Amino acid sequence: MVEKVIVIGAGVYGAAVTAALARRGARVLLVDAGAPAGGTSGSTFSWTNASTKHPRSYHDLGVAGMAAHRGLAAEVPGGDWYHEGGNLQWAAGADEREKLRRKVADVLDYGYEARWLSRAEALELEPDLDPAELPADEIVHFPREGWIEPARLIDHLLSGAFSRGAVLVPDDAVIGLEVVGAVVCAVRLASGRRLVADAVVNCAGPRAGAIAGLAGLNLPMRNTRGVLVRTSPVEVSISRVIHAPQVHLRPAGAGRLLLHTRAIDGAVRVSDTGETSADESAVEEMLEASRVLCPRIRPATVESIRVGERPIPGDGLPVLGRAVELPNFFFAVSHSGVTLSVYAGDLVAAEVLGEDRDEALAAFRFERFSSERFSSERPSPAGR
Ligand SMILES: Cc1cc2nc3c(=O)[nH]c(=O)nc-3n(C[C@H](O)[C@H](O)[C@H](O)COP(=O)(O)OP(=O)(O)OC[C@H]3O[C@@H](n4cnc5c(N)ncnc54)[C@H](O)[C@@H]3O)c2cc1C
Repeated sequence: MVEKVIVIGAGVYGAAVTAALARRGARVLLVDAGAPAGGTSGSTFSWTNASTKHPRSYHDLGVAGMAAHRGLAAEVPGGDWYHEGGNLQWAAGADEREKLRRKVADVLDYGYEARWLSRAEALELEPDLDPAELPADEIVHFPREGWIEPARLIDHLLSGAFSRGAVLVPDDAVIGLEVVGAVVCAVRLASGRRLVADAVVNCAGPRAGAIAGLAGLNLPMRNTRGVLVRTSPVEVSISRVIHAPQVHLRPAGAGRLLLHTRAIDGAVRVSDTGETSADESAVEEMLEASRVLCPRIRPATVESIRVGERPIPGDGLPVLGRAVELPNFFFAVSHSGVTLSVYAGDLVAAEVLGEDRDEALAAFRFERFSSERFSSERPSPAGR
């Protein structure tokens, strides 16, 4: 019987899995090389969505993830880390407009909520956008999308888990897994501690491949880096996620905005010692694009720049649930983890404790990487 579980990694996944395990009565040790929310979950755009996710199984997981956030925030007094303000998106150029039309047609076909707006309708939602920057029509609104504050969510999930007896082991990296036969028996930490467990869950985000390797499993990852810029507080009424061709933005608390573009991800610099930073001119260009889109942003300055690493399994899809060859070792690893973790973390926790949910997890099993179907050359499914 599984009683004592070690969860590796205290990002959104580790927090969600720990909370769900503790709620079900398990004894959980949550181990992190640093502090909760110190990894990718502290450097993310954190847009909750399913409009970018294919195939259908991934889309459905995203929809379930969004519903789980909605449900959790509604049941917790002060659950205002969750902001379901919607997402406005439009494209520039014939090819991009055609791509957006196809994307919207696909998700409407799935039964997802999306509506085309005219410029005037979009301006009713976001009156501070410069009308000259918007197309006359074909602005899509996804009303059930939004964004969350991951650090506050993690804090909520972990404080609930700690009150049920879960224990955090911070600042101590997992450096070894003891595997005897087909069972992981113990976890070895950099401090020299050895922790025994009935089950181990790999929630190490971008380092999930390395943790799998310690268990003798090969999890291919193709992580990418992304740059996020937080502005100083500014008097502007942006109240939802906006994906304009030149810049992506959303509110970031107390009048701040969070900015991102695909182009800026190419401006990451990595020093010889592994320190990451972003090219200053690219940051300034992105800030300027946001000022053009929304002139009231003009007084804003750059308050912080964060570089995050997206944990992307080799075929772009989540890796969730038990490893068949090592049945007490589990995965909860994906890109779009902010959207998915509360729901997917609960499914994984249930499976750890023997409540298998094959129908929900079948498309996301680790074993697909050992089958001949997988090739790292496969085109990747869409997803932020
Ligand atoms: C620029 C950017 C934009 C993004 N935008 C979105 C978005 O809009 N919507 C969305 O849903 N998702 C988005 N994502 C992805 C999302 O942020 C991640 O999928 C999610 O945060 C991953 O959470 P995690 O818990 O798996 O990993 P992490 O938050 O990285 O947590 C993993 C933890 O494991 C710990 N760890 C690692 N190795 C060890 C070890 N050996 N021993 C002990 N601990 C270890 C780390 O210290 C870390 O705390 C974005 C990511 C980036 C970088």
